[in-house]
Amino acid sequence: MSDASPFLPYNLPSIDEQEIAEVTAVLRSGWLTTGPVTQRFEAELAEYVGAPHALAVNSCTAGLHLALQASGVGPGDEVITTPMTFCATVNTILHTGAKPVLADIGDDFNIDPAQIERKITPLTRAIVPVHMAGLACDMDAIWAIAQKHGLLVIEDAAHAIGTQYKQRPIGYSLSGSRSTAVAFSFYATKNLTTGEGGMVTTHDPQLMEKMRILCLHGISRDAWKRYSQSGSWFYEVVEAGYKYNLSDLQSAIGIHQLRKQETFIRRRTEIAERYNEAFGSMPELRVPPQSEDCRHCWHLYMLRLALGRLSISRAEFIERMKTLGIGCSVHFIPIPCHPYFAASAAEERNHCLRSMELYETTVSLPLYPGMSDVDVTRVIEAVKNVIQDATVSIVSTTA
Ligand SMILES: *Cc1c(COP(=O)(O)O)cnc(C)c1O
Repeated sequence: MSDASPFLPYNLPSIDEQEIAEVTAVLRSGWLTTGPVTQRFEAELAEYVGAPHALAVNSCTAGLHLALQASGVGPGDEVITTPMTFCATVNTILHTGAKPVLADIGDDFNIDPAQIERKITPLTRAIVPVHMAGLACDMDAIWAIAQKHGLLVIEDAAHAIGTQYKQRPIGYSLSGSRSTAVAFSFYATKNLTTGEGGMVTTHDPQLMEKMRILCLHGISRDAWKRYSQSGSWFYEVVEAGYKYNLSDLQSAIGIHQLRKQETFIRRRTEIAERYNEAFGSMPELRVPPQSEDCRHCWHLYMLRLALGRLSISRAEFIERMKTLGIGCSVHFIPIPCHPYFAASAAEERNHCLRSMELYETTVSLPLYPGMSDVDVTRVIEAVKNVIQDATVSIVSTTA
């Protein structure tokens, strides 16, 4: 790494003056918590994904928890999800008192519908698919299974704001939907960020009302109106709810992030295409899966290493990239690998072989709209250098 090239981090948020001005305006407005700006953010996001109802929450984790709990998932139920996900997906199932059941992934890193069917029991209540890296799951197959067995579908769309499945955005539910609810993440590293935040969408007004009440302490009416002229001091608590609301300070960031999503996705796609072009014909590498059914939003660029052709491990690959000034990451450490889940998932681990294999061989390269063409070239050159130095000669050259 030359001194002229600073370290290129694996992820950076794309924040500019619009977000800063809007946050400043909120700070000057006298109203900091959930209020009119959050309402506007909810309305704009609902329109963007094509959902009749959207609830802003302080994380995707909160959104998943609300959706599961408000749709009645609880003790005695089993919920099928993927081992290739962030712990939040499984933790929220546990928080309802239900039991998470893991169904392995396919080569596209997404939950495999055939594996879902194998895990269904009389106790199964819901399926929580994750659109890994921004590539939509095979939703028609998942919805067909759900319909056949009378199951709920709650989508973990943490990676998938702007992803389209069969020409419709993830979250689309204007004409009804076979998913009960869809949860998005606005965490710091996600495609749309508010620092921390999330949104949950649904076509079902009653479910939305339940989630809205649970989201803010179980209070039965719009608390944010309480302090305005149209509001009143009176409120009633009707349930032991949570504290999951999103503040206007965060929504001020989100509104402008949302308006730039299409531009962001175009830039992310350009970068992914340059990577694909550079790595597509290298036998030591496998570029990420795509699908004709999906407009990928390219949240992550997950590159697979053909370790049989390399003298280094995935961990060594990441170390060498770091010495060349490039940050990388890994998505995800499969659920059964974590100590907390290990005991209950000891047997399940044997059913998650594809997740284990892909986990060992996959690395996420830097991918964000703020990367310059020169940054992208640097990443490509670094990957090629590391691979060149580590390629095992397969053809024996006996002279
Ligand atoms: C980031 C992430 C979450 C959690 O999102 P938060 O907004 O941080 O709660 C859930 N699921 C997946 C797959 C994620 O990547």
